[in-house]
Amino acid sequence: MKLIVATHNHGKVEEIREMFAGLEFEPKSLKDVGFTDEIVEDGNTYFSNSLKKARTIHAKYPGSIVLADDSGLEVFYLDNRPGIHSARYAGPKPIQSDMVNKLLLELNGVPDEKRGARFVCVMVMLLPDGMVFTSRGECYGMIGNFPRGNNGFGFDPVFLPVEFQYRFSMAELPTEIKNQVSHRSRALSGVKSMLAELNTK
Ligand code: IMP
Repeated sequence: MKLIVATHNHGKVEEIREMFAGLEFEPKSLKDVGFTDEIVEDGNTYFSNSLKKARTIHAKYPGSIVLADDSGLEVFYLDNRPGIHSARYAGPKPIQSDMVNKLLLELNGVPDEKRGARFVCVMVMLLPDGMVFTSRGECYGMIGNFPRGNNGFGFDPVFLPVEFQYRFSMAELPTEIKNQVSHRSRALSGVKSMLAELNTK
């Protein structure tokens, strides 16, 4: 059975593929299945956005398992902004450096102890019969003072996870190491264990 990852974000698809390595499902991207439309994220919660993405793809490819996530960066000093608006934080089609620079500017002069943040991910898995599973993952850390590293995507160059004592940015970590601590992998491990129990092919 096909498993489609309902995102146009190449970085997310790569991470999810890595997380499924060795399992019977080989995740397909929207590009792989020829879906090019934009799905507007207009919900008020990570869950509603995630469910909308999953349902849109499920309607088009009803025989597949669909995996969708909605994620964001919550910076405590900024009252948890950009949060669910992370993807459009620096405009509708921002380049990575714009987002990172805008964040660094907003935190200019803010001392390290006030630069705490977390990534949040809410994942939805929709089965062909319409059954919905959901799971949430978080990853805590702080926002560094300058961008570092070339891996990952989005805010990775300025996010320093607590698990590595704030010594590395997510963008300095290889994907398999990021996946050991990331919000997405934590959310995915919840839905993955449900998938294993279903034993579908
Ligand atoms: P969405 O889940 O497609 O709405 O996008 C969420 C946005 O949050 C992304 O475009 C990134 O800017 C940011 N984001 C989510 N997860 C990550 C991550 O793992 N690393 C870096 N940025 C992320």
